[in-house]
Amino acid sequence: MHELALTQGIIDIVCSEQEKQGFKDVREIRLKVGEYSGIVPDYIKDFFPMVSKGTCAESAELAISFIPAEIKCRDCGFEGRPGTRKMFCPQCGSTAFTMVKGREFYVENILVE
Ligand SMILES: [Zn+2]
Repeated sequence: MHELALTQGIIDIVCSEQEKQGFKDVREIRLKVGEYSGIVPDYIKDFFPMVSKGTCAESAELAISFIPAEIKCRDCGFEGRPGTRKMFCPQCGSTAFTMVKGREFYVENILVE
């Protein structure tokens, strides 16, 4: 369960920004989590109140947006959602593709006061 370390990492980023920029309160932290990032957003939500306690992010809301996977097929050039269940190109059935979206995990935005 690496979500605990990731939650800690998010808070470290936010609080070092707060020190650098000198804003008072962090109201909202917006995260982007890709479908195939291997990260479970619910775990981050669960850990957040515990990990943020006593930090600059203590009263912040956590807003997580999900990024669905998209592929680019190397055989037929298809771009878009992969086949369901198993990962393949829905147009030609190839498994030779590059994942162009869906592995993201980052802090998109911090809303401050
Ligand atoms: Zn294809």
